[in-house]
Amino acid sequence: MSNTDFVLAVEDLTVSFDGFKAIDKLTLYVDRGELRVIIGPNGAGKTTLLDLICGKTRASGGSIKFKNQEMSGLQEHRIVRAGIGRKFQTPSIYENLSVFKNLEVSFPKGRSVFGALAFKCDDAVRSRVQEVVEEIGLAGQLNAEAGLLSHGQKQWLEIGMLLMQDPELLMLDEPIAGMSVRERELTAELLQRIAQNRSLIVIEHDMEFVKRIAHKVTVMHQGKILAEGSMDKVQNDPRVIDVYLGH
Ligand code: ADP
Ligand code: MG
Repeated sequence: MSNTDFVLAVEDLTVSFDGFKAIDKLTLYVDRGELRVIIGPNGAGKTTLLDLICGKTRASGGSIKFKNQEMSGLQEHRIVRAGIGRKFQTPSIYENLSVFKNLEVSFPKGRSVFGALAFKCDDAVRSRVQEVVEEIGLAGQLNAEAGLLSHGQKQWLEIGMLLMQDPELLMLDEPIAGMSVRERELTAELLQRIAQNRSLIVIEHDMEFVKRIAHKVTVMHQGKILAEGSMDKVQNDPRVIDVYLGH
């Protein structure tokens, strides 16, 4: 397949670590505006898949097309600039800086820093910070030190830092781990808001949460796709119950 409407087209992707295929000829398509959840047992290759897409790990074979443009082989910062944002499991925020500063420093740097342009740029940054802080529900904490936020708020701040880059595809690895029930609810709402004009890939274990947010679910097992479809469909798939949900 050469030209597609998919935001992301992963085809025959393979990576081996010392002969062990962590991802094995995996093919996956994500639509524009889709919120895809990836589930599967530990060691299935979920995190490795995100590592490959964001350029942290290099594939041994296959292709990763983002908006029809080949991403595999590009350096990580080029992939970010192309429009793919990725959140890791542990938040990497600047604890000593305010929420405002954390967001401000995440704004992609412009090409010119001269005179009137720089001023205009400051304005653009401030208005983008305002939009993002409202989207992540931290408008009331704009001047708070990031280190004093709750665990959930820190996770939202990091999502906000990614949103500052205006990614078209956002990938999140177990975003609700360690969150309270209320924080989980708010995160589900946040991800649904984000999916209104972006695509999302979310790795998650909490089935209630998955049910609530997923447009479609992909089940991975041993570096391959075991099942894919609606939550209802995969939940009732005997192979999925056997390797994952039954435990
Ligand atoms: P998941 O996120 O689904 O739990 P991972 O993608 O973290 O699974 O891991 C898939 C498999 O690949 C595991 O067996 C893991 O040990 C292995 N693996 C992941 N990254 C590396 C690496 N950099 N070097 C060697 N083995 C790795
Ligand atoms: Mg993982």
